[in-house]
Amino acid sequence: MQYISTRGGMQPLPYCETLLEGLAPDGGLAVPETMPTVDGETLERWRALTYPQLATEVLGLFATDIPRADLARMTAAAYEPFPEAVVPLRAIDDDLTLVGLSEGPTLAFKDMAMQFLGQVVEYALERKGSVLNILGATSGDTGSAAEHALRGKDRISVFMLSPKGRMSAFQRAQMFSLDDENIHNIVVDGVFDDCQNLVKKLAGDLDFKRAQNLGAVNSINLARITAQVVYYFWAWLRATDVGGWTEVSFTVPSGNFGNILSGFFAKQMGLPIRRLVLAANENNVLDEFFRTGVYRPRSAAQTLATSSPSMDISKASNLERFIFELVGRDASRVVSAWKDLDDKGHFDFTADLSRFIEEFGIVSGTSTHADRLATIEAVYDASGDIIDPHTADGVKVAREYVEPGVPMLVLETAKPQKFAETIREAIGVELEYPSELRAMLDAPQRTSEMADDEHELRAFIEANALR
Ligand SMILES: *Cc1c(COP(=O)(O)O)cnc(C)c1O
Repeated sequence: MQYISTRGGMQPLPYCETLLEGLAPDGGLAVPETMPTVDGETLERWRALTYPQLATEVLGLFATDIPRADLARMTAAAYEPFPEAVVPLRAIDDDLTLVGLSEGPTLAFKDMAMQFLGQVVEYALERKGSVLNILGATSGDTGSAAEHALRGKDRISVFMLSPKGRMSAFQRAQMFSLDDENIHNIVVDGVFDDCQNLVKKLAGDLDFKRAQNLGAVNSINLARITAQVVYYFWAWLRATDVGGWTEVSFTVPSGNFGNILSGFFAKQMGLPIRRLVLAANENNVLDEFFRTGVYRPRSAAQTLATSSPSMDISKASNLERFIFELVGRDASRVVSAWKDLDDKGHFDFTADLSRFIEEFGIVSGTSTHADRLATIEAVYDASGDIIDPHTADGVKVAREYVEPGVPMLVLETAKPQKFAETIREAIGVELEYPSELRAMLDAPQRTSEMADDEHELRAFIEANALR
């Protein structure tokens, strides 16, 4: 299996080489040259597998350049920190079942992909005999998932910028309590956009980037997308009966279109998925696109800070991979859509609107702060279950698309403990923290403070990067 760019300008590359790159050299995103497919017999055979075994099978279709035994070792190690089921399913009422993606070390679904990415990137670096210094900016979930997945690795170090005083106490503790030598938490005197701009400036300086072996593990990373495909298969196998060729629908609380894109891959691979329901919060550029066919990204200033912060996006970096399929894999049409975006601030697929549902099964909806609170309360009253604000956005929108006879699975993208304030606001409950989380909250913290200054950051990286 080789990977090509959505913009047509990249030599086909194998999996291990693709995952060390960010954007393709032509500015596009890596996609499989042909999507692998899975037949009914294979699906039935997969019912008996554990989560790591299933991950080996699914990822084996994408990472054909990695021997099976190596892949099996990596998936076992990646999902070892999780409870035995790895991804448990639980019904909250007759209509909806939650898919528990937040059982990992940082209590959010990003662990599902990052834990595997940590394994496979280290493996690819070993094969190449090189090292990687990961430079990123975070407002919370991504940074902590990356650090917990990459801590203690020999060939990788992490330089993670975060805005001073802008993260929750829980998020700070998750990142800053790590004392591994390869983890550098850099607290910038600025807001998240300042952090991201610093990253862009350094990553845009190609000489510096090469000299310091800089890379990224952001949401466009191919290893993350492929690792996320696994749990769609897993959830389908758990939610359907042996021999039944039942379609199920998934609702996905969405931001950068990474998670739902993996569901779209699973559907293209032949998994019987009826609807992929995209749930957005108030920053609903994607809901707008799937309802109207017009995609109009917003500026940072137009992007609201909401109570489901991990879905606060202005543009959806993975959407290009969907557009590539929408235009029949014609890279020139992808390029012209992005040219429209540059020239006019939007692109327009109104003419293809009916295909969004009929061909691709994607529908969408929006949830607001009031919806979130009401949903958390309604679920709590009905089942005693406490869901996090992002999952609540999913539950709210999922209800609009429940169909008789079609199981509706809602992805639980975080645990409520990460967002205790919103839970208190919704139901007046103080969440309890298990002892290991309390210990983390009380542990000493270690950071490097820095002004919003490119030169200071360059010097810091030069002094601390792996070579
Ligand atoms: C990252 C994140 C999302 C959004 O996922 P995308 O892949 O960016 O669409 C939703 N919920 C939580 C809790 C997250 O951390």
